[in-house]
Amino acid sequence: MDLRSRAWVEVDAAALRANLAHIRQAARAAAVVPMIKANAYGLGVRDAVAVLEAEEPDGYGVATVEEGLELRALGVRRPVLAMTPAPASSLPAAVDGGLTLCLSDLDSLRALAAEATRRGRRATFHMEVDTGMGRAGLDWRSAETWGREVAALAAPPLRWGGCYTHFHSADEDAGTIDRQWARLQDVVDRLSLPADAWVHACNSAGVLRRPQYAGSAVRPGIFLFGGRSALDLPRPAPVAAVRARITLVRDVPAGSSLGYGATHVARAPERWATVAIGYGDGLPRALGNRGHALVRGRRVPLVGRISMDVTVVEISRVPDARAGDIVTFIGSDRDEKITVEEVADQAGTINYEVLTGLTGRLPRIWQA
Ligand SMILES: *Cc1c(COP(=O)(O)O)cnc(C)c1O
Repeated sequence: MDLRSRAWVEVDAAALRANLAHIRQAARAAAVVPMIKANAYGLGVRDAVAVLEAEEPDGYGVATVEEGLELRALGVRRPVLAMTPAPASSLPAAVDGGLTLCLSDLDSLRALAAEATRRGRRATFHMEVDTGMGRAGLDWRSAETWGREVAALAAPPLRWGGCYTHFHSADEDAGTIDRQWARLQDVVDRLSLPADAWVHACNSAGVLRRPQYAGSAVRPGIFLFGGRSALDLPRPAPVAAVRARITLVRDVPAGSSLGYGATHVARAPERWATVAIGYGDGLPRALGNRGHALVRGRRVPLVGRISMDVTVVEISRVPDARAGDIVTFIGSDRDEKITVEEVADQAGTINYEVLTGLTGRLPRIWQA
């Protein structure tokens, strides 16, 4: 069956490469570690890795041990950082998979040492430092104390590979980046880090706003996948498009009601096109009666509530539209475009959630 028969996500590999090149240039000499958690921000980790491997990144970042093991299963041999504090039960698999674990407490470090010894393998770890994000990391104020203990534990089979923090407001506020970076530097000054250990902090917005804080490595995510961090930061090349087909076109008389709750009623004769995509595909339900789509290069409103499997657009302005036409919900169509940020704004959320919310029902079609 043609994957484009119903609804799909188109992914532009050349745009992903261009966005990576942009980050590389901003980060100068720093290592670049693409973050490809959550199925590469929803776009398909297998294809993302195939594209990124050819660009020879310095490693990858994921959230979970499971995601790291998936990369190993795909044949990735580079460093893979599992960034979210891992449950103790996942340590054996993480050690066997040669993942670099990012740790936030000394108990986990001891558990990792024990596990690595048990399995007769080396294990690399990075320590996360909490400089204001609060969700993980050792407190920057007490680095003296924990630094000594980490240094004592950081003997074979363990290898202390790095120390890092995460910016909480890099998208909106340069002042907090400065403060958090200064705290990380303060910590690093008080630690006896191995000379080859990485010191890193920057997400996409961080490296774009403060490239001087690239440190040893940067961890870009959303920018690579076409998401803009802020209006005052560079616009990435668009990577993802969400499209679906019109399956039905109908002319309805004034007074006709539409969708669950009958929230739309035609005031005059209207032409409705039923499109084969719904919230079950990840199209945010909040777009109902608010969002827009593109048909034959023209902007049309989404009318009524979005259903699980279908959405209706009002196409009186596009009299030549037919069943089988492609409707664009995110992406370009001729001279018109809808950005992932527009969709996120309309749905009351952020571009990250829109992308990672695209469900498995939509095939991801990667284009060279
Ligand atoms: C997701 C993540 C990133 C990437 O952030 P973007 O805003 O998508 O660039 C960087 N670092 C950590 C620790 C993350 O969890």
